[in-house]
Amino acid sequence: MSPNFPDLKDKRVLITGSTMGIGLATAQAFAHQGARVGLNGRKAPEHLDDILAGMQTDGGESAFFAADLAHSAGCQQLVDAFVARFGGIDVLINNAGGLVGRKPLEAIDDEFFDAVSDLNMRSVLMTTRFALPHLRESAKQSGQTASVISVGSIAGHTGGGPGAALYGASKAWLHNIHKNWVDFHTAEGIRFNIVSPGTVDTAFHADKNEEVRQRISAGIPMGRFGKTSEMAPAFLFFASHACSGYITGQILDVNGGQYMP
Ligand code: NAP
Repeated sequence: MSPNFPDLKDKRVLITGSTMGIGLATAQAFAHQGARVGLNGRKAPEHLDDILAGMQTDGGESAFFAADLAHSAGCQQLVDAFVARFGGIDVLINNAGGLVGRKPLEAIDDEFFDAVSDLNMRSVLMTTRFALPHLRESAKQSGQTASVISVGSIAGHTGGGPGAALYGASKAWLHNIHKNWVDFHTAEGIRFNIVSPGTVDTAFHADKNEEVRQRISAGIPMGRFGKTSEMAPAFLFFASHACSGYITGQILDVNGGQYMP
């Protein structure tokens, strides 16, 4: 049985990095609530038409916007295209992110530093920056809070696994920058929260063989990786003014008990 958040019907929800994995499952969950959803990735997914048709059948309206968010111009382009299509933004989900690669300290060079920072930090900073006037307007017009939800990580708490120090630090940076945004934008009716996944079964872990997966699973009290469908309800909760209208500046860890702050 899927959860029901009636106030999300017709909300305009922009989800970055949503052609697969956690982003896609979340987009589909919003469509199920009757929301208007923007999908994004650098390129269209293979079965885009089927994905959009499925989301429409499920009650939502959706569109895909290609943009590379590692560049500020791509962030601006995405926000502009989404607003041109849907007329504004009520909910922004900063989900695009990833490891880029694994490098020990001695192997980190400027190029790698820039790539990890651009994907995980610049993309969130600039997309939020360009979305801000629209979120402000949403709150003003609706009398409800607008919502920014960024995807953090267990690595943002622990420091990250082998070769993932920069990735972990970039997620800790997100956890932290939200606090500043709460201080300075709450009066404008915008809430900022983080969903922080543990180990979720997506392409992110494509480099791991069965033995490694079993070793990781053994360290998770739930005994297994999370499913993308198990992440999505946390985003619905933070997007819903009725459910979380007085919640801001929080990190919700969805990790099967793998890490307890
Ligand atoms: P995923 O399956 O690898 O999907 C990543 C998505 O981001 C894809 O839609 C990809 O599409 C898009 N993307 C990548 N680079 C982009 C760019 N430069 N501009 C725009 N879109 C881009 O990832 P996931 O595992 O679902 O992870 C989603 C988020 O959760 C990330 O922020 C990740 O760090 C975080 N997270 C994941 C886990 C986990 O265990 N899976 C754990 C903690 C946190 P294109 O390739 O077409 O661009």
